[in-house]
Amino acid sequence: MTTEIAQPATLPILSHWIDGRPVEVLPEQTGPVHNPATGAVIARVPRGGRAEVDRAVAAAKAAFPAWRDTPLIARSQVFFAFRELLFQHREELAALITRDHGKTFPDALAEVMRGLETVEFACGLPVHLAGMTTPNVSTKVDAYTFRGPLGVTAAITPFNFPVMVPMWIYPIALAAGNTLVWKPSSHTPGAAQLQAELWKEAGGPDGVFNVVYGGREAVSAIVEHPDVRAIQFVGSTAVGRYVHEEGTKRGKRVGSYTSAKNAMLVLPDADLEMTADAAVAAGYGSAGERCMAQTLLIGVGDTVDRLRPLIEERIAKLRVGPGMEPGVDMGPIYSAEHRESIIRWIGVGEAEGAEVVVDGRAFRHPENPDGFFLGVTLFDHVTPDMKVYQEEIFGPVFGMVRTATYDEALRLINDHKYANGTAIFTTDGGAARRFRLEVDVPMIGVNVPIPVPAGYLSFGGAKESAMGDLAMRGEDGVRFFTQQKMVTERWPEPGRRAALSLVFPGNA
Ligand code: NAD
Repeated sequence: MTTEIAQPATLPILSHWIDGRPVEVLPEQTGPVHNPATGAVIARVPRGGRAEVDRAVAAAKAAFPAWRDTPLIARSQVFFAFRELLFQHREELAALITRDHGKTFPDALAEVMRGLETVEFACGLPVHLAGMTTPNVSTKVDAYTFRGPLGVTAAITPFNFPVMVPMWIYPIALAAGNTLVWKPSSHTPGAAQLQAELWKEAGGPDGVFNVVYGGREAVSAIVEHPDVRAIQFVGSTAVGRYVHEEGTKRGKRVGSYTSAKNAMLVLPDADLEMTADAAVAAGYGSAGERCMAQTLLIGVGDTVDRLRPLIEERIAKLRVGPGMEPGVDMGPIYSAEHRESIIRWIGVGEAEGAEVVVDGRAFRHPENPDGFFLGVTLFDHVTPDMKVYQEEIFGPVFGMVRTATYDEALRLINDHKYANGTAIFTTDGGAARRFRLEVDVPMIGVNVPIPVPAGYLSFGGAKESAMGDLAMRGEDGVRFFTQQKMVTERWPEPGRRAALSLVFPGNA
């Protein structure tokens, strides 16, 4: 049974957000939210299921016609106001991210700002939705195309970017005139309700933007709901494949953006100081819990021998601690279970014969012994037959691989089952050019370790890192969340009427 109680975002029991208002559930229908820096339970999150999804989809369906028909500039003004409110509340959003996820506050703030880029893109929606007109495709006949919304859409998002990843999806869906049901991760739910509240404060109509918390049951309810027309999912490959297969089977448009194992290729001529900074930042930032983290370094020739001491030097200076503490480089792991899983993975790598150069397993934070902290781990002599080379660990574990030639290194990257992001480190422009043409990974950095495209461009991987034809955001995002309509049009002219003919219409 659900009751409606007005409740601000930061109270310990979170509420679903349906039809422009919070919908609280009974305490026994909730699960705990932990602060990973202390291990303490700091909030409770509803475990929504089919009933809540049905209710949210019904609200979204009812709100759709009016939102679709809202003049573009009026819709755009909601986004301008929303952008301003999000900006004003950026530190509050970032603090909620740090509280639930553990990443450092500056990192969380950077996440909010990168999410805002896509809201800013959405402000220009009248331009993005423009169509094309072709006059005189036949005698007195004109043709034009335009992009219309689909109806009720959904976003299912992961724990690791509670603000940025949802903001890569819902602004585009809503800007295009759709309504939406968002199912955030139950591990990091704190910033979700605030986004919904700010949407309402910005003038976003009730029912257009809905939030339902939950796990497997809520996801199945979204995937199976006949009124949901399109879903963008971000998370692990196993769940993304389920959402993609079951959703497309039911005729929905589905984009799943999933797991990764990104490698940076380092040539002997690279600027090694810069490369060592990049490796440590990309490998251990956000405790390695980024889908664009570089977790493998593939060095050509003697590169690894020369880089290793530079990387060790930097690791020795890293400060691990609570994300709100100034000067901390890396926060805790987001959950106790995930910390255990990373520890198991380090054991697997060791057993497989990788050299454990730096071992983070024993790290405890002195003032927060119950926090989910882990130190950073550096493996050397990782080889492609190892599980720690093949699988995503999603933690602060960085592995170095040695190859003799550029071709061998390139082949390793192109043969990997995951293909989300990659990077080359070199001072040779010709080599970088070759790499960006030859590498079979869509998001490429040249001396840039985390090549997340700007928020107004598209984002997405390939192979087991993405399922579906289109990427998220940018031009692809607009295409994903719209249906193109093709109109062929003639107007009667007094006194001119062609003779009746049953011949297939020609364009002459
Ligand atoms: P996850 O797959 O466990 O969860 C993603 C979403 O699915 C969450 O909303 C969760 O509640 C739901 N879910 C979890 N288990 C489910 C199940 N059995 N049935 C139905 N729904 C379920 O992923 P996560 O641990 O939250 O996020 C980490 C993963 O996300 C990593 O693999 C990472 O690489 C990936 N990721 C990918 C991108 C990208 O753009 N490619 C971006 C961020 C994260």
